[in-house]
This record gives sequence, C-alpha cells and structure tokens, in this order.
Amino acid sequence: MKNILYLSALVALAACGKSDETAPTAVLTANGVPAPAEAEAQAGGTLEVVLQLTDDEALGAYRLDLHGAGGHSHEGADAEFVLTSGGDDWAALEVADAAGVEAQITHSYAIPDHIRGHWHLLLDATDATGNEATTAYMEVHVENDIIPLFEVPYTAEPVWAAGTEQALEGTVSDPEGLISAFARLLTEDELLLTEVEIGLTEGDVSADLSSVTFSVPSDAAGSELEVELEATDAAGNACVTSFHVEVE
Ligand SMILES: [Zn+2]
Repeated sequence: MKNILYLSALVALAACGKSDETAPTAVLTANGVPAPAEAEAQAGGTLEVVLQLTDDEALGAYRLDLHGAGGHSHEGADAEFVLTSGGDDWAALEVADAAGVEAQITHSYAIPDHIRGHWHLLLDATDATGNEATTAYMEVHVENDIIPLFEVPYTAEPVWAAGTEQALEGTVSDPEGLISAFARLLTEDELLLTEVEIGLTEGDVSADLSSVTFSVPSDAAGSELEVELEATDAAGNACVTSFHVEVE
C-alpha cells in the first residue's frame, strides 16, 4: 500500500498531455555495485548511490528510498533472517525532478556508527508524461566492526512451544572486551517478561548465549514474542538487536 501511494505521488508530479509512451529506465548503483546485487557498506563510512535515468523524450521525476529491512520484503524477494541493529535509525527519502533525456545523480549518505544489518534501497522514476520505469531494488548490507556482535544460528524465526523452557543459541563477541550483556524476552506489546544478565568476566571477548534460558508463558500459544539482546564493550560502544519468536 505504501508503495502504491508513493507511485501515485510520483505520477501526480509528472506533467501530462504528451504522446510519449515509452517508459524511462532507472539504473541504481550503490558503493559500486549495480542493483539487484547486494551492496556492501561499513558502519561509520558512507554509502555512495548513483542513479542513471534515461528517457527517449523527457525525464520527469524520481524517488529514492532507503529504509531498514526489518519486518517486510518487496515483490520477488524473500525476507531473510538477519539480526539488525538500529534498523529505524538510518533512512533517507529523496523525491526530485529530473530533466533532459539522460541524468546521472549522486547521493552520498553517512552511515551511523551503531547500526548493523540489512537495509533496502529502491529507485522509482517517471518520464514527463508519467510513464513509470521498472523499480530498481537492492539490499544494502551494513557491516560493523565498532559495536559488539551478536550471532545466532537461526535461518528463520524460531518456533517455541508454550509452557516450555528455551535456551538461546549463539554468541556475543567484541575484540575490545565486553563489559555487560543482557537478553530480554518481551511480549508482542513490548511488555518485559524476563531479563537475564549474561555472566561475564572482565576482559571476556566473547560469551555463549546458551547460558540464557527463558520460560515461554503457557498462555502465549499463537502469539509472537520478541528476544532483545544488548551488549556494551569496554569502549562504551553498545549494540541493541532483536528477533521475533513464534509460539505454538
Ligand atoms: Zn523495504
């Protein structure tokens, strides 16, 4: 629904009354990688986005949309299980006119220090008549060497049975040493059910998440729970990430 509204806005921006029936083309490149391949980026660095727009008669407008990948997917793409930190903290939206039959436009985005995971980048374009280019879509994978790293072996949202005890799997690590780490179980409505502090000895560079055991409420069948993970390293850099669990 969101995308349909955005497209309508783009069409409304374009002028009418011409006979151009050929759609424009929109080519999207991020950090040197052309869509639909996945672009690689580093927290604390930049994402350099280049748009190449062409039309046989006259370009109209374009819309470039960068947003966190959490909780949804786009047509033709499968939602991957990826632990994302700061998914809502980095986003950009550019809507602007384009002129001529060919335009190359560059946008450079600073990537925050505290984010990690997958983002979506989409480019839509219209010509002056309102014909729409095929959406160019790619994922941007942000690596982070600054904040602690949580790694879990899940390839999809885990499914837990109501009324059982469930141990987490995975690790948390940081080359500078961890000073604190927490795992929390929350309801769909963000109500805290359990908080477990992960035992650390000063100087630990990693810890196993299997020391964390949660009691899955017996009345939670059919709902979703959220596991929130938080760790801080010796330099004060913090990572907060989370994933959903289905309860049966
Ligand atoms: Zn998206």
